[in-house]
Amino acid sequence: MQGTILIADAIATNRIALKVKLCAAYYHVVQAEDMEQALATARENPPDLVICALTLPGGGAADLCRALRASADTAELPVLGIGNADQAVDRFAALEAGVSDVLLKPLDCTLLLGRTRSLIRARNAVDEWEMRDDTTRALGLAEPTAEFTACSKCVLIHSDSAISVNWAKQLRPLLRAQLTLANSEEAIRAAATNGPPDAFILVLPEDPSTATAALRLISTLRANAQTRHAGLLVVQLAPDTAQAATALDLGADDLMTEGFNTAEMVLRLHAVLRRKRMTDQLRDTVRSGLKAAVFDPLTGLHNRRYALPHLDRIAEHALETARPFAVMVADLDHFKGINDRYGHAAGDSVLVQTAERLRNNLRGMDLVARIGGEEFLIVMPGTNLSDAEKTAADICADIGNRGFVVPGTPLPIHVTISIGLSIGPIGEEGRPLSSDALMAQADRALYSAKSHGRNRVNLSRPAA
Ligand code: GH3
Ligand code: MG
Ligand code: MG
Repeated sequence: MQGTILIADAIATNRIALKVKLCAAYYHVVQAEDMEQALATARENPPDLVICALTLPGGGAADLCRALRASADTAELPVLGIGNADQAVDRFAALEAGVSDVLLKPLDCTLLLGRTRSLIRARNAVDEWEMRDDTTRALGLAEPTAEFTACSKCVLIHSDSAISVNWAKQLRPLLRAQLTLANSEEAIRAAATNGPPDAFILVLPEDPSTATAALRLISTLRANAQTRHAGLLVVQLAPDTAQAATALDLGADDLMTEGFNTAEMVLRLHAVLRRKRMTDQLRDTVRSGLKAAVFDPLTGLHNRRYALPHLDRIAEHALETARPFAVMVADLDHFKGINDRYGHAAGDSVLVQTAERLRNNLRGMDLVARIGGEEFLIVMPGTNLSDAEKTAADICADIGNRGFVVPGTPLPIHVTISIGLSIGPIGEEGRPLSSDALMAQADRALYSAKSHGRNRVNLSRPAA
C-alpha cells in the first residue's frame, strides 16, 4: 500500500469521488464527516496525509490543521485542502494555518495524485530521519543541536531578469530570508562556490521548449550533492497540471500554479524553509549521534567500538599484502594514585594530554583509540618489530620525561606509561594470528611490563 489517506468531507459523494481516485492509485483511504471525527481518527491512527474540505461541520481545513499542529504526534501531518472555485479567501487562510496546498474544484486527477505523492514522500523522509534520531537518542548518543540562528538564503531563478527584479522588490520586505536573483547556470555555479542556499524558487517559463530545460534543472538540483537538501518552490506562470505533477515528481517541495502572488509566495517559502530547517536539524542530530558512537568524548580519540573492527580490517589487509603490522596496548601507570592525589579533573586533563602525545608520536595512518579508562590501543599498519619498538620507546619517553601541566596543581605531574607490543599477522609458528590473539598477546606483554617495574615496553611472547 502506498500510504493511508484520511478524507474529511461532509458530503458523501465528494468523499466517494476522491476515494475512487486514490484507491485506483493504491492508497488506503479512511473517511471522516466532520471536524471532530477527523481529529479523532488522525490522533488515534495518524494517516500519511489528510485531504480536507476547506469547510467542514465543526471547523474547516485551517482549524483541523491548527488542531493537528498543537499536538506533537500529529504536528507534522501534511494537510491538503480541497475548495470550490469561489473560496479564494478561505484558501489563503488555510495556507496561513499551515495547510500544504489547496486544490480547487473541479479536481484534476493528475495534479491531485502528483501533490499526494509529493506530500507523502516528504512526510516519509521526515519519518525516516525521526526514526534514526529516536535510535540515536535511545542509545544516549545524541547531543541536542543548537537552535538555528543564521539568516536563511534563497535564490530566485527566473529567465527574465526584469521580472525577477520586480518580484524581489515585493518579496524582500516580507521575507524572513535573504533573496538573490540568478539564472539556471548562475544558480548552480553559485551553489558550488559559495555553498547551497536554503531554498530555490524556480520559475518555469511559459515557452514549452525552455520549460523542459527548467524542469530538468529540478532533477539536477536533486541529484547534486551540494543542492539536494535545499528547499525547492516551483512557480508556474500559468496552470499546466501535467507539468505541475512532473515538477512534484521530480522533487519540487512546493508548487504555485497561478503565477506570482507576493503573500502566497512568502507563505509557501517560509513553510519550505521551516521544513528544510527541521530535516537539517534531524540529519545533524543523527550525524552527531553517529560520530559520538565511534569517538571518545573526553580525548577525541576513537573508542573501543570503532577500534576492534578496525583492527580486524588491518589484520586482513596485512595478510593480503604480506606486510607486518604492530599492535600495542598502553596503560598509564598508577593512574588511580594521580586521581587520588590531584583529583579526578586533573586525571582527566592527564588523559587528554596523553592522547595528544600519543597522536604526536604516530603517523596519520596509525590508529590510536581509548579502549578503557586509562588504556589505549595503538595499531600501526606496515610496521615491523624494530620500528614498532622504537615508536613504543619514544612514546614511553615522551610521557615519562616531561611532566603534565594541569590547571590547579602547582608543579607538573609526573606520569609514566607501560606498553605491551605484539606483531602480526604471522605468529611464531608461522600461522596467521587473529586480531583477538594479537590483542591477547599485547595484553599479556603489558601485564608483564607492569610486573617488571612499569614505565617500559615489553614484547609479547607466545602463550605457553
Ligand atoms: P596500574 O599501574 O597497575 O595500571 O595502576 P592504575 O592505578 O593505573 O590502575 P587501576 O586499574 O587500578 O586504576 C585505573 C584508574 O583509572 C581507576 C579509575 O578511577 C581511573 N579512571 C578510569 N577512567 C577515568 C577517567 O575517565 N577519568 C579519570 N580521571 N580517571 C579515570
Ligand atoms: Mg593503569
Ligand atoms: Mg588499566
